Amino acid sequence: MNRSVAVIGVGSRGVGVLERIVSLSRLTDRPAPLRVELIDPRCDGAGVHATDQPDYLLLNTTAGAVSLFPDHHTVGDAVSLAGPSLLEWVTDRGLRLGEDGFTVSHTGRPIRSTDFLPRRVLGEYLGWVLDEVIAAAPPHVTITRHASAAVDLTPAADGDLEVTLADGEVVRVAQAFLTTGYTANADRTPKPGMLPGPYPLPGVLDCVAPGQALAIGGLGLSAMDVMSACTVGRGGRFVPDGDRLRYVPSGREPKLLFSSRTGVPCRARTKVVEFGPKYQPLVFTEAAIDALRAERGGPLDMVKDVLPLVFTEMRIAHRRRLAAMAGTELRLPHEDIPAALDELDRKHGAFDPIAAFDGSTGMPLDDRAAYQDWFADVVAADLAEGRRGLTGSPVKSALDILRDQRDMFRYVCDFGGLTPESLDEFTASVVPAINRAVVGPQFERHEELLALIAAGIAEVPFGPSPVATPQPDGRWRIASTMLATPHTRDVDWVLPAQTPLPAVAASADSLLVSLHRKGLIRRFRPDSALVPGVDVDADQHPVGADGRPERRIRVLGPLCEGATFYNNLVPSPGMWSRPVADAHRCVVAALADLPAAEPLLTAGTTLLTTAPEVTT
Ligand SMILES: Cc1cc2nc3c(=O)[nH]c(=O)nc-3n(C[C@H](O)[C@H](O)[C@H](O)COP(=O)(O)OP(=O)(O)OC[C@H]3O[C@@H](n4cnc5c(N)ncnc54)[C@H](O)[C@@H]3O)c2cc1C
Repeated sequence: MNRSVAVIGVGSRGVGVLERIVSLSRLTDRPAPLRVELIDPRCDGAGVHATDQPDYLLLNTTAGAVSLFPDHHTVGDAVSLAGPSLLEWVTDRGLRLGEDGFTVSHTGRPIRSTDFLPRRVLGEYLGWVLDEVIAAAPPHVTITRHASAAVDLTPAADGDLEVTLADGEVVRVAQAFLTTGYTANADRTPKPGMLPGPYPLPGVLDCVAPGQALAIGGLGLSAMDVMSACTVGRGGRFVPDGDRLRYVPSGREPKLLFSSRTGVPCRARTKVVEFGPKYQPLVFTEAAIDALRAERGGPLDMVKDVLPLVFTEMRIAHRRRLAAMAGTELRLPHEDIPAALDELDRKHGAFDPIAAFDGSTGMPLDDRAAYQDWFADVVAADLAEGRRGLTGSPVKSALDILRDQRDMFRYVCDFGGLTPESLDEFTASVVPAINRAVVGPQFERHEELLALIAAGIAEVPFGPSPVATPQPDGRWRIASTMLATPHTRDVDWVLPAQTPLPAVAASADSLLVSLHRKGLIRRFRPDSALVPGVDVDADQHPVGADGRPERRIRVLGPLCEGATFYNNLVPSPGMWSRPVADAHRCVVAALADLPAAEPLLTAGTTLLTTAPEVTT
């Protein structure tokens, strides 16, 4: 009888799964032996948040918004391990934030819940949580760490799963969780002069010499990481200069040439990131989506069916904020809300949610100077909004619907909720627009970008969608495609500043390659050039090449992107949290699927009395 579970991939998802296994095992009144095999080359819990990266590489989640300890909002009574949020953890250790705004050590000011901390610190927190969870396991649960990658997984004749590790060990389990996160894809072969991607930083930039020209493809979070590595990472400093920042160079910076497909800058996070109570939607609701589904008789079209609801909700959020700022409350009729909003627009001036969402209004395409000036003006105007915070910015409040109502988007999209064509369109243009609007860089990064543009170290000269062509001398030529007066530059290096989603059919990860080859996993949308992730059913079981779910395996995290929406996040406390909910329901089901065993204790006896509580 094999009562055993493998957790393959021990980043935040794997740690979350283990926490659920341990907590539910502590809470059970029918304890039975359980073996848990943790498999990961590092097995330190950090996953993508490596502990050896420099402090200037920051999280895009604030310190108070991260906790690996589930609470009742998501798991109800199934809370067993109490533990600190990231904020409480750093505070308990006397850690503080340095004057540079990113270095975490024992000097500086106290860390606030609204601070963006180094990813390194999250990695250390995750490692600590992993140790605590393992230490809290009840006696009937045995946990083994295998510091090795899984390279193969084979269903054995007796119904077990055989997991082969890179070090040659073979582990037999009854159930497996696949939480492998951002596995690399096989197509990232470096070309001369083209850096393979933005990570790991700063190592990936070692070949870029001071003064060389580096074309950065992207304006998002990874591009800002590269910018930090090329500036503060090379000894430069940003100093206050009136209400702006000024850059003091070290002389070791390359020249940074930014561009992107749309040419639209991201919106930065507000200066102080505080969200307030969850937004209560009036029109972008489950009932409205259910009604649309009933009307369409099947999957929806995100752009045609759903975005109109989202835009109306943004208009409501905008008016609600204006009303709150005036000390009143927005009252809308139950019938024909859009007409009531039109009336408010006529009286008080219009708010265009589509323009706010799209962000390209007024983009001049005359020449490089006109475009770059527009770009810098848009960034500066957004920073001005960001200084007011959500409570002082109706525009930011309207856009925040896109973050706050993420679970509604999941309700729309998950498990085939969109037509294949619409999922492609959603992936290609709606998700990037959402990310630009509400998952943009920290406020300070955009202040720094403006300072670098002013210092002539950074430029955004090409307009949308420039093309990069390799030159015989190993350099690259970047040419605008949309400017009336074309602009062309030869650069020493190009760097695509995106982290591609893990691809089922083009993975560099031996395990995923093998699972795909054996038909144990397949792509969710095999015909799509945009959705590379795994097909999972609503219970997170991978669907195989034969169309049948493999019930001994459950997949969680970024590999599921496409079949489910927005998997690339760490759990947050004090609210219903999807990563926790997924881990909980999957662990409950996996434990129930294990072969029965004689209980170790009489039914009704709880192990809670014998297991130590994790304290902070
Ligand atoms: C650069 C970057 C920054 C990010 N910053 C944030 C942030 O600030 N806030 C946020 O909420 N999210 C952030 N994310 C999103 C990120 O996806 C989540 O935070 C979270 O780390 C995902 O957890 P995970 O466990 O699914 O994946 P990961 O953290 O990637 O962990 C996966 C683990 O699986 C292991 N693994 C892979 N293949 C195998 C194998 N074959 N056998 C065994 N082990 C394997 C890896 O070694 C790794 O340890 C960021 C992502 C990236 C890429």
